[in-house]
Amino acid sequence: MKKEWRRYLGVHAPRYTSYPTALKFTPDVGADAYAERLDRVEPYEPLSVYVHVPFCRRLCWYCGCNMRVENDYGRALDYVTALIAEIQAVGRRLKGRGRPVAVHFGGGTPNYLLADDLAAILSVIEGEFGLTDDAQIAIELDPRSLRDDDADRLAALGFNRMSLGIQDFDLAVQEAINRIQSFDMIEACVGAIRSAGVNDLSFDVLYGLPKQTARSFESTIDKVIALAPDRVSVFGYAHLPAALKNQRMIRDEDLPDGRLRSELVDYADARLCAAGYMRIGFDHYAKPGNPLAEAMREGRLRRNFQGFTDDVADTVIGLGASAIGYIGGLYAQNEKDLRAYGERARRGELTTVRGVRRTDRDEVVAGAIAALLCRFEVDIRPLEAILGPEARRRMASRLGELAEERVVALRGGVLQINPDAYALARVAAMALDPDAPAFEKVSSAV
Ligand code: SF4
Repeated sequence: MKKEWRRYLGVHAPRYTSYPTALKFTPDVGADAYAERLDRVEPYEPLSVYVHVPFCRRLCWYCGCNMRVENDYGRALDYVTALIAEIQAVGRRLKGRGRPVAVHFGGGTPNYLLADDLAAILSVIEGEFGLTDDAQIAIELDPRSLRDDDADRLAALGFNRMSLGIQDFDLAVQEAINRIQSFDMIEACVGAIRSAGVNDLSFDVLYGLPKQTARSFESTIDKVIALAPDRVSVFGYAHLPAALKNQRMIRDEDLPDGRLRSELVDYADARLCAAGYMRIGFDHYAKPGNPLAEAMREGRLRRNFQGFTDDVADTVIGLGASAIGYIGGLYAQNEKDLRAYGERARRGELTTVRGVRRTDRDEVVAGAIAALLCRFEVDIRPLEAILGPEARRRMASRLGELAEERVVALRGGVLQINPDAYALARVAAMALDPDAPAFEKVSSAV
């Protein structure tokens, strides 16, 4: 990455897995608004279902997820009961309309739950919503919690996509983030998942973690490649200790500086591409032939709450505490507090407590940002046409700055991201977002 671009790696750009972003959610959207949209779902409309499992065995210092460390499995069982009640409440509104084409279990740690309990949840989803024969059923797995027969049992239940949280293989890094998992453990997990017949396995890797060095990260990426997952996600760690207490356990002086961060991301990209992976968007990689690579090749790549996806559904049903759904222009987020969530769900109520309705302007901005992130190219003239003079001037000034630095190029109203600047795609997207703060206000000294 060019030296002049490094400062942009320190910009805390939104992930743009939704637009408007969750910062715009308000209590004005509640269960009634969500119910009204559920009533409008069409028969056989494709649905994408997200199930949030908020429990973990231990706290990773870098974590930014909605999770809770829980040692009492009885509480997890209470949660499963509430989740099933919520699925039934949504099912009562849908009355058989809509059909899931994808179900994704995320967390937290979905495999904190025993396979029997995951089976119970999946079976209620199937009973209430139905499932297409070729539905993608995905689960995020913490390798440290994977039990001996989990991979076989999950595969037998229909889970056909699995992802493992790797982050980094180096012991010093793992100690600095409070997440110890040996290469042998990961290798055994991969073996179990492969022998269970799963042929869509994904790894998550993080750069920018404490104690990472060029050499340690090179070794991590080489080990990732040796284990041959079908997909790899390479995310940048965002250090936000003022907002996330657990990140205060990470010492500022252990974090890689801007130069090293750019070397790490460049190395990962070069090695993964040389090993035959296709770069998907700005932080995913997939083997040619993998459904995600096919979606990219055929121009069907999309972005949803899980990042880049080949999921075809526009409508997302979010289930579980803090889960976010999207139906017909409405983002609806469930109660985050586990006790309050459980009480509402067990009363048979929908548990939406906040969200936002997309305006016509939001639709245009969302479309432009999604196109830019998924295809690295967008015609910005429709966006210019609906922005007021002040927002248009701000967008032109940001794009001018990025164009001067050659991060983007603008020709005849078509904006393109320089392929070498792929890691800055979210920063380029900020330029199209009339509500985004100025780059300099969010830059850290890297
Ligand atoms: S396992 Fe995942 S969700 Fe749980 S603490 Fe670690 S990073 Fe957070």
